[in-house]
Amino acid sequence: MAGVDAEDFRQIRDAVRQLVREVAVPLEERIDDEDRIPDELRARIAEMGLFGYALPEEHGGLGVSMAEDVELAFEFGYTTPAFRSLFGTNNGIAGQVIAKFGSEEQKKVYLPRLAEGSLIGSFALTEAEAGSDPAGLRTTARRDGDSWVLNGSKRYITNAPLADLFVVFARSDPEQAGGRGISSFVVEAGTPGLTVGPKDRKMGQSGAWTAEVFLDDVRVPADALVGEEGRGYSSALTVLSRGRLHIAALCVGMAQRVLDESVSYAATAKQGGAPIGRFQLVQAQLADMHAELLAGRAMVREVAARYDSGEDTSIGPSSAKLFCTEMVGRAVDRAVQVHGGLGYLRTTPVERFYRDARLYRLYEGTSEVQRVIIGGGLLRAAGMPRG
Ligand SMILES: Cc1cc2nc3c(=O)[nH]c(=O)nc-3n(C[C@H](O)[C@H](O)[C@H](O)COP(=O)(O)OP(=O)(O)OC[C@H]3O[C@@H](n4cnc5c(N)ncnc54)[C@H](O)[C@@H]3O)c2cc1C
Repeated sequence: MAGVDAEDFRQIRDAVRQLVREVAVPLEERIDDEDRIPDELRARIAEMGLFGYALPEEHGGLGVSMAEDVELAFEFGYTTPAFRSLFGTNNGIAGQVIAKFGSEEQKKVYLPRLAEGSLIGSFALTEAEAGSDPAGLRTTARRDGDSWVLNGSKRYITNAPLADLFVVFARSDPEQAGGRGISSFVVEAGTPGLTVGPKDRKMGQSGAWTAEVFLDDVRVPADALVGEEGRGYSSALTVLSRGRLHIAALCVGMAQRVLDESVSYAATAKQGGAPIGRFQLVQAQLADMHAELLAGRAMVREVAARYDSGEDTSIGPSSAKLFCTEMVGRAVDRAVQVHGGLGYLRTTPVERFYRDARLYRLYEGTSEVQRVIIGGGLLRAAGMPRG
């Protein structure tokens, strides 16, 4: 279970809440304008141990459980997503591959530095024709004596322009189609043949960077293989499932933020001499946001408890991601509506969150993909043979 006791965890959660609300929130506009996390905020994040809160304690992390992870994510979600994105790949998709499947040597070499934030990790799975269906990836890994040689390209890779370390998924057995035959490798930035493209220009989530990653005869030693050869796809699915529950919790945090912004705006902004909150149709928008937010939060907590007990590590996280990402989409839309014309203007927080929220329904599996996982999982559990 958890690496910290309940009282220590409460203190960590409170300190995170304070950092988010007192330091990150006032910097949001600057982060949006400059498209970067200020160095002083990065330093505070590192100081608090947030680069490694979900990594194992014995390697410098805090080793939180999933139930604790989502409580922290409720807090992270309250501010610009760029805040969490900076340390998200270290704790999540990239760091977890090493923590769960890496050799003792890989854990010793990389995890402490990921946990302290001196190393940024990126998770490089998606390719041009392998997004929703990553089993179709075309990047190759060819064994050559004591090395592996990687060739291919990846796109939309979070933190790639900052990354010191890439967890790269590549087909190591060309005879095997689909997920079998895919392996994962740790590739350090600066390895000859690895290049990162320019930062992508995105709809929202300014300050969080993505880019293409090119692998051109990248030679890595045999011990860069993470886990067993041919098991990379299965490890990707394991960490993505955990990531989906984390994203669901971030969406709950964002929904709380835009509700708070909307309540305070409705209580003070006036039409005809009275606050717009006096209109019951405005109250209805707030009521729907609140009811759905409570549903999302309760769902995430229940799914996290079942994840920790091992009862459900797939259908539950996908269901939570599906519901909460769609829920926050409705919340940001209502928040803009409550703000009227002001909600359409840059510098109004809800305008920014409206753009930021859109990503959640796309990455780490689109809403359609979550539905396929949930529906397929339910039917398989009922004994329906795979088609
Ligand atoms: C900002 C950002 C950050 C990202 N970060 C990372 C990262 O760090 N690492 C990484 O590896 N990837 C990352 N991704 C990639 C992301 O996970 C993919 O974009 C996502 O999984 C969708 O894949 P795609 O873009 O290829 O879209 P497609 O798979 O081409 O989807 C297009 C449409 O087809 C639908 N569709 C596809 N297959 C099916 C199906 N079987 N059934 C029904 N509908 C289907 C989709 O739902 C969607 O509506 C990131 C993406 C973005 C935009």
